[in-house]
Amino acid sequence: MVKLAEWQGKSVFRKYGVPLPRGEVARSPEEAESLVRGGKVPLPCVVKAQVLAGGRGKGGAVRFADSPEEVRAASAAILGSEFKGEKVRELLLEEKLSIGRELYVSLTLDRTQRLPLLIASARGGVEIESVADSEIDRQTIDPFPGLTSYEKRRAAKVLGLSGTLARSLDRLLDSLWQVFQREDAELVEVNPLAIVGDGLVALDAKVIIEDDAAFRHPEYAEVRDDRTELEEIAREKEIAFVQLDGNIGVIANGAGLTMATLDVLKELGGAPGVFLDLGGTDDPKKVTEAFLLMARAKPASVFLNIFGGVTRCDTVAKGLVEAMGQVPATERFPLIARIRGNNETEGIEILRSAGVTSVSDLRESAQAAVDAARGRR
Ligand code: ADP
Ligand code: MG
Repeated sequence: MVKLAEWQGKSVFRKYGVPLPRGEVARSPEEAESLVRGGKVPLPCVVKAQVLAGGRGKGGAVRFADSPEEVRAASAAILGSEFKGEKVRELLLEEKLSIGRELYVSLTLDRTQRLPLLIASARGGVEIESVADSEIDRQTIDPFPGLTSYEKRRAAKVLGLSGTLARSLDRLLDSLWQVFQREDAELVEVNPLAIVGDGLVALDAKVIIEDDAAFRHPEYAEVRDDRTELEEIAREKEIAFVQLDGNIGVIANGAGLTMATLDVLKELGGAPGVFLDLGGTDDPKKVTEAFLLMARAKPASVFLNIFGGVTRCDTVAKGLVEAMGQVPATERFPLIARIRGNNETEGIEILRSAGVTSVSDLRESAQAAVDAARGRR
């Protein structure tokens, strides 16, 4: 998924005329301070960690500052810290606006109805998940005419806006609709949308670009997303590879068997880490590549659980033995194998000659992988 950081989302908003606070990005406390001293960001201001997770306000990742010294101190405290597992590398410094009320609006896709959805709530500023359903208004939008006056009037009513503010909302929703359509977004969220004087201002921006449309938007190619470095390499090599928090590596084939393998390990008290789905391949080189990638994730043990079909057991065994030869001795890890199915006997023989035994019982082999990982990292 291409998730834009707040400042990136806001620069998209700016292009479409969504009213925003004045703001600048900083990557060091010194830079933050000089932005304020140089008048690029007026005081008092807000220092906001640019991470993808929400709830920054409550979590201390959005701070207010009244002087250049405070800006520097707040920036130093936030930069480099971790927020919900994400390291903060960038800050958005913004003028602090004096807010009347905080509202919520978003455009997203209703996948069941296969239509865009406009969501509005007068309870902005808190995570929408925590707002009572009765206080959230949802309208599906026909994509061909786009947002109609009727729908915008209903949103204004829900948000308690009339007169100038209702007209502001009308223009703002038109802009958001354009962002949603032209940028192929799957989510455009403004929370809070703040009443400032007699106008509306988007204080936060969350924009997610639809993955399947990413090819139409090379401008987002550089946007970092949730993939780890190894996941990125795997993606380029077209290997299905996911990094979790655990320490046991899993190599299986097919989504069903892969998921079942993770479940069994978990049930036996293990913590599955990286998992890799070989899918259907009869190329040992592909297996070798996948296994070497697994080795780079430094698992405490690896559980290989293969059901041979298109992916024959001997193909996997060959690729595996080749890869093991390439992993330096200092980086080796215990490998527990269970290979069943097409060309099983040949596969088991190849593994045996390399000193790996295949245990045919699932629980027994999974338990061995859990035991082997215990006591190592
Ligand atoms: P998050 O959604 O991660 O908590 P927000 O950007 O929504 O982060 O900021 C949290 C809160 O901080 C907002 O609800 C708002 O009250 C306040 N805030 C954010 N930006 C500004 C700003 N420019 N001026 C005044 N208050 C702000
Ligand atoms: Mg917010």
